[in-house]
Amino acid sequence: MDIVNSETRSRMMSGIRSKNTKPEIIIRKGLFNRGLRYRINDKKVFGKPDIVLKKHKAIIFIHGCFWHGHIGCKNFKMPSSNREFWVNKIDVNRKRDGEVLNYLHATGWRICIVWECAVRGKYQLNKIDETIQKLYDWIISDNIWLEITSEE
Ligand SMILES: [Zn+2]
Repeated sequence: MDIVNSETRSRMMSGIRSKNTKPEIIIRKGLFNRGLRYRINDKKVFGKPDIVLKKHKAIIFIHGCFWHGHIGCKNFKMPSSNREFWVNKIDVNRKRDGEVLNYLHATGWRICIVWECAVRGKYQLNKIDETIQKLYDWIISDNIWLEITSEE
């Protein structure tokens, strides 16, 4: 039995696939309001990252938990129908993500992955504020890696 119904899944996937998913816009605004300037989906950077802060040598990806296969996340359940197709699809996406991260890391970028579960759900507003603060602190730091995920 599927844990999410097909309507929910198509909503999840369409949200993930579109360029301007809501959490992404809120995160961008939060960073902008803190005085940070960045490029969005910069084609000149490998993997066309969601947010590129050149001055800080920092890149932010906002990953949908389903599409990017967030292991151990309640928002990531492999569909039981058409299972082989989805397992393969998510696997391809994961490999691609890995290649992008390795390349960016090797070329001197600092990288942050924000999983959508960190900014979605019941306590959305608090979570988004917290996430933006964590992001900001990381951007102005020297740390090369940050992953933000739901703490539930
Ligand atoms: Zn997740």
